[in-house]
Amino acid sequence: MIDLLPAARANVHLITHPLVQHKLTLMRRKEASTSTFRQLLTELSSLMVYEVCRDMPLQDQVIETPLETMTGQVIDGKKLVFVSILRAGNGILDGVLSVVPGARVGHIGLYRDHETLQAVEYYFKMPGAMEARDVIVVDPMLATGNSAAAAITRLKACQPKSIKLLCLLTCPEGINALYQAHPDVPVYTAAIDRELNTHGYILPGLGDAGDRIFGTQ
Ligand code: URA
Repeated sequence: MIDLLPAARANVHLITHPLVQHKLTLMRRKEASTSTFRQLLTELSSLMVYEVCRDMPLQDQVIETPLETMTGQVIDGKKLVFVSILRAGNGILDGVLSVVPGARVGHIGLYRDHETLQAVEYYFKMPGAMEARDVIVVDPMLATGNSAAAAITRLKACQPKSIKLLCLLTCPEGINALYQAHPDVPVYTAAIDRELNTHGYILPGLGDAGDRIFGTQ
């Protein structure tokens, strides 16, 4: 077990809403079926993305209601991009896209070398005009932090306007590692668990998120 660095903790937005905590606990249960797990992940992702989008800039827009003209507000700038870290990140896409349906989607394929626990890239596909877009990287588990850090390093080469990370749960090791690599990237999560085990799994955690989403256990 390691200590969470105070500066790294300050970079984390812990989403404590009762609905989020309730659904996360249901998902963690080992008896949750694949369909239940997937459904809860979709619901949680749609709730959590509200918090991630809280500081999005707005611009005024003059519109006609059936009764009169008014100035409303709409989200400013180019469509944001959700970047899924394959494959477990795909489990978050349905939920976030249900709330932000116009968003673009990028994919980064990284696999974790089981011996070194380091991330190795095998796929990278992003929408155009990345330099004009805000990016939200999605991955259910921020564990060692290696995959997220490697994905964000690669994304920074596209020079997006901003990058945030949305994960379901994390641990001190993952938060510290990501902060050391990318102190400018805020993390949004529903839980900071106790520790990472020697196999790179979060404890108490929820097991292998990809296997639980896709039923490949
Ligand atoms: N990835 C997972 O799916 N689960 C963990 O606990 C850690 C990494």
